[in-house]
Amino acid sequence: MIVESPDGHCSEADDMTDTKGLIFDIKKYAIHDGPGIRTTVFLKGCPLECWWCHNPEGRNESREIISIRKETPNGGVTKKDEEIGRLISITELMKEIEKDRVFYDQSGGGVTFSGGEPLVQIDFLAGTLEVSRKAGIATAVDTCGCAPRADFERIYDHVDIFLFDLKLMNDELHEKYTGVSNKLILENLEYLANTGNKIRLRIPMVPGITDTDENLLGILEFISPFNNIKHISLLPYNKLGEDKIRRFGLVDKLGRLTTQERDVLQGKARIFEEHGYIVKVGG
Ligand code: SF4
Repeated sequence: MIVESPDGHCSEADDMTDTKGLIFDIKKYAIHDGPGIRTTVFLKGCPLECWWCHNPEGRNESREIISIRKETPNGGVTKKDEEIGRLISITELMKEIEKDRVFYDQSGGGVTFSGGEPLVQIDFLAGTLEVSRKAGIATAVDTCGCAPRADFERIYDHVDIFLFDLKLMNDELHEKYTGVSNKLILENLEYLANTGNKIRLRIPMVPGITDTDENLLGILEFISPFNNIKHISLLPYNKLGEDKIRRFGLVDKLGRLTTQERDVLQGKARIFEEHGYIVKVGG
């Protein structure tokens, strides 16, 4: 049974619960990653390279060493190497997830798989989803939508909610700001929307890029034929990405942006509310 190849990639094991995945964080008591109180598991690997990514340490599919810069009070800079990525089996991960079952039961919460893009590690994700559901734990998958259709079909029955992040309708802009076309993403959104009512659409509101009226109206037009999409979250711009770009010494394509005021976001929310959608500002 496997484990990890020399280049750090994972593959399938003989016994599902021994399948290992590469994660870079587990967040307890999360309240913005689906309903109720949740445990969010962050899987490594993502096919996109969003300029505003606030989890850049989750993009690479392999374990990696990141040199973290820290500014000292006297204006100097220190660097400390940190290994990002921990191999964990489904059995080990389930022990972590089970620890907070009482909170899930009381709050209507559960486990959320995020990343990175969790479908990149489809065997590990599918196995953990199946075991979670068999254990009576509700599941959510936070996805950028960029994965083969067959992978969505494989996990569909074991997922209660898809937190589907939609960024840009204009394909040229999508390619510019994320590195990939939005074609597959839109096809998968359409597939999920036509298959059931499990979607919570999430729009990261990046000032001047994704939060423009033109983009939001384009999204409205695209989703309006799908009766199963009713819930939309507008995610205020997260400056954590800027901080990580600086600390990890990454190329900064975005520059400094200002998180929108709440009343600006509420104005954007009305674009969808006027058409009957239930809109939440925040996760
Ligand atoms: S899809 Fe998410 S994890 Fe992937 S690069 Fe974009 S913001 Fe980062």
